[in-house]
Amino acid sequence: MKVMVVGAGHVGATTAQRVLEGELADVHLVDIKEGLAAGKALDLAQAGPVVGHSGRITGSTSYEEGAGAELAIVTAGLPRKPGMSRDDLIGANGPIMASIARAVAQVAPGAVVIVVSNPLDVTTTIFQEECGFPPERVMGMAGVLDTARFRTFVAAALGCSPEDVSAMVLGGHGDSMVPLTASATVSGLPLTELLPADQLAQLVERTQNGGAEIVSLLKEGSAFYAPAAATVQMACAILRDEQRVLPACAWLTGQYGLSDLYLGVPVRLGRAGVEEIIEVAVSATELRRLQASAAAVREQVARWHEMRGGQAATTERA
Ligand code: NAD
Repeated sequence: MKVMVVGAGHVGATTAQRVLEGELADVHLVDIKEGLAAGKALDLAQAGPVVGHSGRITGSTSYEEGAGAELAIVTAGLPRKPGMSRDDLIGANGPIMASIARAVAQVAPGAVVIVVSNPLDVTTTIFQEECGFPPERVMGMAGVLDTARFRTFVAAALGCSPEDVSAMVLGGHGDSMVPLTASATVSGLPLTELLPADQLAQLVERTQNGGAEIVSLLKEGSAFYAPAAATVQMACAILRDEQRVLPACAWLTGQYGLSDLYLGVPVRLGRAGVEEIIEVAVSATELRRLQASAAAVREQVARWHEMRGGQAATTERA
């Protein structure tokens, strides 16, 4: 098995490290910055004898060694700066995503793709539009990370292990994300009976701002340990055909009353990519929030289409 990781920055390199250490696949790292992917690949290879993995890793500015990869993970592009929203990144990351999608489609036409770059729901849309793969082979990573943040905050509030907290965060990867509180449990016990409503509301709000909280602490760059761990959980489900039920940014065709857009929903992940979108009963309030989240994503996608139209017109004029 081969995984191509595009973008050898914080998220990309940590993802490559986890793929190798988990013995999931060989890795080819690609980065536009001369020497970065090659240097990190060499460094990661040299950790092999110490850590005890024997996977092959290469790195370069070229996609060629990623030919035939079963999975492509896209982490290239700018991260947020303090005070920026994810949506502010469309202008920079939209064109990057379009060019990477075309390059991946050329060398790995059968790959399943996990997009990580922000703004997630829009970059996933751009990637699928440009690569032309069927939508079930292109998905975005956000829900596993947002859910992990929610589980971490709930566990800290209750003083229990985060492993015992079972929850799901749906919707777009932004302030409009929707942590499902009514169905969240702690070892099978309803979360709504373990925490008062006002405290639960605070945890939901902290989850919605979970990325920004880290950006403001770091001052430079954004979170990458948990994002890489979340991405590799999805990668593992795909490469090992685990049929895991996880939240992912997937193409909707009527589920939850929504169609023709990418949005975070529960899916079953396997070797073919998104093998099923799972519809669960959500409360009226949660459904309203999911629809508001979808509206926010549609607005951003329309903004990208306008920008792309402008760019195409500029190129034609030039
Ligand atoms: P980073 O700056 O550390 O790394 C990004 C890398 O992309 C850089 O090394 C850069 O040289 C490379 N790059 C830029 N343009 C490229 C191109 N055209 N081709 C190949 N490589 C290119 O950033 P990071 O912290 O790794 O974050 C990467 C992206 O992931 C950001 O957009 C960030 O917002 C996003 N992110 C998403 C989630 C999520 O939940 N989906 C979580 C964390 C980060």
